[in-house]
Order: sequence, then C-alpha cells, then structure tokens
Amino acid sequence: MFMGIPEDREMLLSKLTGEGRLRSENIIEAFREVPRESFIREGDVLNAYGDYPLQIGCGQTISAPHMVATMTELLKPRKTDKILEIGTGSGYQAAILSGLVESIISIELEPDLVLIAKKNLENAGCSNVTVLSGDGSVGFQNHAPYDKILVTCATPEIFQSWKDQLREGGFIVAPVGGFYHQDLILATKTENGFIEERHGACVFVPLRRETI
Ligand code: SAH
Repeated sequence: MFMGIPEDREMLLSKLTGEGRLRSENIIEAFREVPRESFIREGDVLNAYGDYPLQIGCGQTISAPHMVATMTELLKPRKTDKILEIGTGSGYQAAILSGLVESIISIELEPDLVLIAKKNLENAGCSNVTVLSGDGSVGFQNHAPYDKILVTCATPEIFQSWKDQLREGGFIVAPVGGFYHQDLILATKTENGFIEERHGACVFVPLRRETI
C-alpha cells in the first residue's frame, strides 16, 4: 500500500537493512538521498519503493532495490574509486554510486535509454557520472584502468576487455550465466590471475552485442 514517498522509502530501507542486504552507513545514506521515483516512468511513481524491478522502456528494467543494495555492498565503494558500469538503464545504480566514489563511466546500448539516463542523472545532480552510448562488452579503454567494474546485464562470461581494463587488486561484479538464471560473481584481479566468488542466484536482462 502506498503511504507516501518518504514513508515508503523508510519502509524499504528497514526491509533491506533487516534482510542484511544493506549494511554500510554510507550506502544506506545513498539509498535515502537518491530519489528512485526520479528514475522510473511517471505512471509507476506509486511503486517507486517496492522491492521489485520496473519497466523503463525499450524492454529494459530498473533492477529491484535489493539487487542494487547487494551489488553496491559487494563493490565496497570508496571515495577514490574510478568505476566502469555496463548497462546504465535508468541511471539509478550509477546515481547510488555517485556520492560514494570519485567517478563513474557508464555504458548503455539503447540510444533512447542513454538520453533518459543522462536526463535522470542531471536532474539528480550526479555530475561525476559520464554516460556513453555503445556496446559495453568491449569496455572503455580511454579511461582505464578502473578500480571496479559493475555489470548490470546478464553476461555469458566476464569478457577479456573488462579484465584488461581493471587494475590489479580491483574487482568485477557481474551476473554471469544464461538467459533465465545467472550467478552473481565477484571476480578479483590478483597478480596470479582472477579469483571468483559466487554471491547467489539472480536474473538480469541480457547483455546484447552490437554486432549481432
Ligand atoms: N543499472 C540499471 C539497470 C540496467 S538494466 C539501472 O539502475 O536502471 C540493463 C541495461 O543493460 C539495459 O538498459 C540494456 O539496454 C543494457 N545493455 C544490454 N546490453 C548492453 C551492452 N552490450 N552494452 C551496454 N549496455 C547494455
């Protein structure tokens, strides 16, 4: 039931902290400060703080808040971090990171969503997020190396370009798997190669390649 935006937001925060999805003070604060209602379609405003994905156009979705919480906690954002995000979508995940890190490059394949995300991020005052139009499977070499890479579309694998563009000691958080089901993977780059940890099952919209 819709209680009002501030009330619904606090209810969602209690749920996510109660479930242990949100743990860090700075991330909880980011969830409080970024208005999810500004990153969704007008007709969905009453559902802005429901813990489920919503359609954002072009057949794409804004992830459920619990997934944004889990991914953001896994990223362990630091004020000095340079982040690469693959799959800007609405821009909401990038906005959550915006106040927690130094800068974010976010790549989106759908030109219409690039425009929507840029507008959403500008309205939210997220000036350290750069949205680029294109196929993020090749990353973005010009600003490499990144401290962390976040993939928010389902990918069949962690591509070599992402591995190459990550600094040593940095890590990649990505949903890796098939169409219906993926594992949330945290892959850390060490001097002896990548170490992978699994962090549960998830379902994301698929990564698409420009060439196919
Ligand atoms: N992080 C987003 C949710 C992203 S949904 C948010 O907070 O709203 C996944 C997005 O990945 C979709 O917008 C989809 O268009 C995009 N996508 C799919 N394949 C891509 C690719 N190869 N490169 C960049 N973006 C891609």
